[in-house]
Amino acid sequence: MELDISRIKEFNDDELKQLIEYDESINQDLIKAADVVRRKYYDDKVFLRGLIEFTNYCRNDCYYCGIRCSNRNATRYRLSKEEILDACEQGYELGYRTFVLQGGEDVTFTDEKICDIVSAIRSKYEDCAITLSIGEKSKESYKSYFDAGANRYLLRHETADASHYGKLHPESMSLDNRKRCLYNLKEIGYQVGSGFMVGSPYQTTDSLVADIRFLQDLEPDMIGIGPFISHKDTPFRDKDNGSVELILRMISILRLMFPYVLLPSTTALGTISPTGRELGLQAGANVVMPNLTPVKYRTQYELYDGKICTGEEAAECRGCLEKRIESAGYRVVTDRGDVAKN
Ligand code: SAH
Repeated sequence: MELDISRIKEFNDDELKQLIEYDESINQDLIKAADVVRRKYYDDKVFLRGLIEFTNYCRNDCYYCGIRCSNRNATRYRLSKEEILDACEQGYELGYRTFVLQGGEDVTFTDEKICDIVSAIRSKYEDCAITLSIGEKSKESYKSYFDAGANRYLLRHETADASHYGKLHPESMSLDNRKRCLYNLKEIGYQVGSGFMVGSPYQTTDSLVADIRFLQDLEPDMIGIGPFISHKDTPFRDKDNGSVELILRMISILRLMFPYVLLPSTTALGTISPTGRELGLQAGANVVMPNLTPVKYRTQYELYDGKICTGEEAAECRGCLEKRIESAGYRVVTDRGDVAKN
């Protein structure tokens, strides 16, 4: 059957499945169509988000993740409030107007501490967006961070197929809870980002279709996807990494299905291919997340093996990314980069 990409939003599950599994002949058509849509909504703009990986302590034990609590080989660190504020200052000078605070689920960062840090950033940088990415919390906790000044929250659902979810996570975690968190975040008023790994162990095309269907229901402002990459100290150490072709195809499909969405070209994509992030932008992504974590901790936030961008100071990182963005045919803008939805 011939697939008419212009009908993608009306595709049934079988058609979507077919598109995801199509041979490579359709790739260029898909990428071109996605680029037309991204330019219609976002022109050639690429937004920067300064990423601060502020703790690698985690109470969870996700089978894929290098900072899972049972990895005894991980060297643990956490940033002080001052270190976080210093990183924001550097980022502000480099033109970043969004700070993303990401970390493991570190129980020593109580709600009170998170609120204190968020309100300190908020009072210093009124014109910036503050994004949190610190996992599953109660609705009350999410509300308290929001009231302290956080605007956005990233929480990938990882996979929308419950049995697949169970193969990636210990029994203490559930897809239902993950979803509940996402709907709670939306209700509170956050700009919400979800997403999933591509090529994670036991993933099927059906689970990718389920991911798209879940996202259609959630209607997130941001969708973060990246290839699964194995980590040597996890149960998935021998599993294959996600492929560049499949992730690019999924980026284009998401751009066509969610024209307005903020879609990062991720560090994981840059890790599996030297030009991965450029290709991601050309396939429909419009966000990159330069690293603002102090260099001395960078290698310790090791979610997967071989993570790139662990050596350069923040300013070098900024310069390198700007060159890559321009070489891909796009333009860096230094504003908050809110979603083009409304
Ligand atoms: N504790 C936070 C942040 C998790 S790390 C949370 O629960 O949301 C951010 C993302 O890294 C995860 O959502 C996951 O999709 C991704 N990640 C973790 N391990 C990975 C791996 N081995 N390969 C690729 N991506 C990985």
